[in-house]
Amino acid sequence: MNEKNHEDAVRRASELLLQGATMLQISCPQCSNPIYRLRDGTMICANCNQQVFFERDLSEDQRKQFHQGESPIQKKIEHLMQQLEQEEDPEKIIKLAETIKKLKEIL
Ligand SMILES: [Zn+2]
Repeated sequence: MNEKNHEDAVRRASELLLQGATMLQISCPQCSNPIYRLRDGTMICANCNQQVFFERDLSEDQRKQFHQGESPIQKKIEHLMQQLEQEEDPEKIIKLAETIKKLKEIL
């Protein structure tokens, strides 16, 4: 981490605290700096300057959204699965199944 980034992180952290955020006893999975929880429950890493999600805190819908946003491949697989369900042609079914299998290997 360079000096400039570090200063930014410190400044962001103090801004978060001024806004009433609390520093948690949890560290960021990416940079292991402390996580801050905002008043609305949002959890943010001041160093990465991004929202941090914990799976256990997410609702079913949020989890889905999060995963879809995270991986376009996952999204494709879901789309292909839907196609597979409706497909009647055995050759196309095999093709779809193979594609899904390959995509899952990438994940
Ligand atoms: Zn971080």
